[in-house]
Amino acid sequence: MRLYASPSLIALSAAPLVVHSLQLPFGIDIQIPAVLDAHLNTIKTQISQIQVPAFINKIIDPTGSSPLLSLHRDLVSIPSVTGNEEQVARFLETYLQSKGFKVELIPIQSPEYPKKRYNVFAYPEGGSRSAPILLTSHIDTVPPFLPFKDGLRTVHGRGSCDAKASVASQIIAAEELLAQKHITEDTVSLLFVVGEETNGDGMRHMNTYDLKWDAVVFGEPTELKLAVGHKGLAMLEVEAKGRASHSGYPNLGINANSHMINALYKLDNLKLPSSDLLGNTTLNIGVMSGGVAANVIPASAKAEVAIRIGAEHFIDVKVLVDDALKGIEGVEATWKQPHYDPVFCDHDLEGFETIALSYGTDIPNLKGRHKKYLYGPGSILVAHGDNEKIDKSDLYEAVKGYKRIVRGILNAKAVVVADPAKSETVVPPVKAAVVVEPSVQVVEPEVEKVVVPEASGDKEDYKKSDDEEKVEYVTILPVEPIYKHERKND
Ligand SMILES: [Zn+2]
Repeated sequence: MRLYASPSLIALSAAPLVVHSLQLPFGIDIQIPAVLDAHLNTIKTQISQIQVPAFINKIIDPTGSSPLLSLHRDLVSIPSVTGNEEQVARFLETYLQSKGFKVELIPIQSPEYPKKRYNVFAYPEGGSRSAPILLTSHIDTVPPFLPFKDGLRTVHGRGSCDAKASVASQIIAAEELLAQKHITEDTVSLLFVVGEETNGDGMRHMNTYDLKWDAVVFGEPTELKLAVGHKGLAMLEVEAKGRASHSGYPNLGINANSHMINALYKLDNLKLPSSDLLGNTTLNIGVMSGGVAANVIPASAKAEVAIRIGAEHFIDVKVLVDDALKGIEGVEATWKQPHYDPVFCDHDLEGFETIALSYGTDIPNLKGRHKKYLYGPGSILVAHGDNEKIDKSDLYEAVKGYKRIVRGILNAKAVVVADPAKSETVVPPVKAAVVVEPSVQVVEPEVEKVVVPEASGDKEDYKKSDDEEKVEYVTILPVEPIYKHERKND
């Protein structure tokens, strides 16, 4: 069947980078040859002048008529591979200002990235720079840029999942919480940083600001689950030095490959620590090289190794690895940056499934004694691939999820300490609450009343408009040691 694109039926994608694509109702795309560009623009102008009822607009242009989907589309359409985040930061500045936020563009300078780049820090007009809750994610993406593509249920494009899905849903969540008077203007601030995909310079720069939060909600793809934490990271280069000689006279040389094989075998079979919460520490021998020809005794060999740490600390893993390599002739390990310990997140809110993650985030880059929540739409499994995508339903769910997290934090009556082994992550509750230590000690905080903003209107109205269930966030979770000092690797 041939499709005739009638101006009254079609909606053109407003995204600047998909000018050759016509989006029909129900997610059908047709490609328009470039020669029709001029006609397209005329049609576009005509369509924009047609007044149609909102419900028809929702059918013919589901993305354009949804504040959430259109914000997400605009973000994904702007290329922002690490080092090139200026345009997306300026877009967010304009967008957030138009929604009544006070916006600060914070310049980030890094020798690796010479172009202008900015973190975007925002809080509601009339609110406070030092609001107790921060919603944050990152605006940079991995390369290469993949253009926005709208489907029936799914959106494709670089950053559609990691992490512009989190950025868009955090912003809409904040807007809705404010509009529905579930929070006051001085409750939540927003921070969208550069550089998360490489060296974390955007988030680390925030440590130079005199800003503190009671709770920080980090947005990354967690499949709409509340993360219990993520593994730490250690990377090392192993080098073996030998002496070249003719392969027919191996006794005259020193075979670097043989020593490297011995070293890597030991590493591959090393018992490394694990925890119930984050699982095993895993070791990946990612790169190997050595020798110049089959008939030459190799004089040098190299390997690169990445270790995802499921328990204990970087330094403990380093000691185990260094010990394993000790005594192997000519073999040396060089430890690389970055490295960080396992990160334990707060997950003391009811009504969320939990997940343990094996990828890194900006959480360790933001210093402070704030509570740490990690939550977001989409799956890390598609995040950096050439078919990065997100389900539209996940975006809507994430808005609800962020709203529940913010309200849960405000309503919190019980707090589980994220990592009893690390004093830095033993964090005080937002406002006041009961801190439950692993030893089942109940500590009365300095009494300060929990401030829970009143919802405007009656509860029925709220339920109708938000379609959320009212959740009580008062249960003290079972308190068990969540950090197990046990070494096993199976
Ligand atoms: Zn990310």
